Amino acid sequence: MPAGKSLFDKVWDAHAVRELQGGQTQLFIGLHLIHEVTSPQAFAMLREMKLPVRFPRLTFATVDHIVPTDSQRRPFTDTLAEEMLVHLERNCREHGIRFFDAASGKQGIVHVIGPELGLTQPGMTVACGDSHTSTHGAFGAIAFGIGTSQVRDVLATQCLALNRPKVRRIEVTGKLGGGVYAKDVILHIIRRLGVNGGVGFAYEYAGPVVEAFSMEERLTLCNMSIEGGARVGYVNPDEIAYAYLRGREYAPGGDAWGRALTWWRGMASDANAHYDDRVSFDGREISPTVTWGINPGQACGVAESIPRLSDVRAEERAQVAEALEFMGLCGGQPIAGTKIDVAFIGSCTNGRISDLREAARVAKTGFVASGVRALVVPGSHAVARQAEAEGLPEVFRAAGFDWREPGCSMCLAMNPDKLKGREICASSSNRNFKGRQGSPTGRTLLMSPAMVAAAALHGRVVDVREML
Ligand code: SF4
Repeated sequence: MPAGKSLFDKVWDAHAVRELQGGQTQLFIGLHLIHEVTSPQAFAMLREMKLPVRFPRLTFATVDHIVPTDSQRRPFTDTLAEEMLVHLERNCREHGIRFFDAASGKQGIVHVIGPELGLTQPGMTVACGDSHTSTHGAFGAIAFGIGTSQVRDVLATQCLALNRPKVRRIEVTGKLGGGVYAKDVILHIIRRLGVNGGVGFAYEYAGPVVEAFSMEERLTLCNMSIEGGARVGYVNPDEIAYAYLRGREYAPGGDAWGRALTWWRGMASDANAHYDDRVSFDGREISPTVTWGINPGQACGVAESIPRLSDVRAEERAQVAEALEFMGLCGGQPIAGTKIDVAFIGSCTNGRISDLREAARVAKTGFVASGVRALVVPGSHAVARQAEAEGLPEVFRAAGFDWREPGCSMCLAMNPDKLKGREICASSSNRNFKGRQGSPTGRTLLMSPAMVAAAALHGRVVDVREML
């Protein structure tokens, strides 16, 4: 019997317009999400070429990177940020693109609002000028992070020219222990497969642990696929995905819902699907995971020690030495106990309501340590409203956290939320590259939101399992 097809292959084939000379595929994009950072030049190129936006109704905009989180009152104090927003507003107006601004109540990080509005759906192709677009794969979509010239291509043609990646199925078996989250699972996967391990691959996440995940946990998992080098990451759609989508503003309604369900179900990977590679991890072996270096693969379990140069392969030594020097950490030192100056809870990886709830459970148990600056930044206005309805801002404020307005904030620090000097930040975001959080010498330790909250209360990295 011939092998069946994976979801990736079905979605790719359903959206392939034609094969191009040189081996690429021209792929139709079902949903294009844009924001203020990568779209202005793309619109300028379109203007120069006198081209309209080909499918404005398939394009949606928000503003996230540059928004201040203390007050979003207009005009922004930062004139460059204000100018970027004005450009986006004008471009959306001129081209008839729906823009979710702060006044709409629907603004937020692009990878948070797409799912919560029901824009992201199974079996879709999604593109956005942001590296973490793989997030949308949580619904069984194939979602590509693209560059500015590709944003122009999608605006002008609704298509992308892409090389077809191979597909690796990653199963997470068993069950996670308490205090272990989707963030730990993806940090563990990247640690084991390496930051370049996924180059040339699409990742299909599966197995009992992934199937038991909520949609928000799946979004966290898929979000960091790109950090493991994979072009996209996805989870097969199931009843959990359909229940999440039902009734959302842009999800199909009425008779269309039944038709959509039939199509979505048909897009899931066949039981006998062919994969180019398969990897399996045991969920019982995953513990709260923390990065100690300058890429997300340089991580260890919270009860482990940072590797010594003698522990790593010869070809990794230079990178590890560079990381330890930059971080001011020593090989052989336990990661627990590492002092922090700043705690950041937010981002498109971990700025959703379930993340804030878990962090609040921990925050309730104490007070932010003296000398630690702790910020909680919801991923969207909808997340903020839900958190307010549940009384979470009061919980955080009572513990000494600063409750902010939604945006990307200190994930990338394109707004005023920045590290200062050599500060070390316990962060629920997705990148710990040098200078990522706004100070060229600032240092980032990636971990789950609950672990960040725990670190905030102790002023150092601790094992959240001992607090829950
Ligand atoms: S939260 Fe961070 S990774 Fe996500 S879209 Fe914003 S800047 Fe990019």
